Amino acid sequence: MKEKIHPNYGEAKVICGCGNTFVTGSVKKELRVDVCSKCHPFFTGQQRNITAGGRIEKFNKRYGQQA
Ligand SMILES: [Zn+2]
Repeated sequence: MKEKIHPNYGEAKVICGCGNTFVTGSVKKELRVDVCSKCHPFFTGQQRNITAGGRIEKFNKRYGQQA
């Protein structure tokens, strides 16, 4: 993913508020973010949704056995 679509497009070092750093593609050389994939609520929430999905699956399984 290092295609030069944009003249200034390159790798940018992203520094997160949690201390995590990673490299991504950007027109900027350095980015500072408050949340990243390691601490973003969306990702922790997604893990909770997987657990909830498991419960729904269990629920459907119970009804499936009755039908
Ligand atoms: Zn982070």
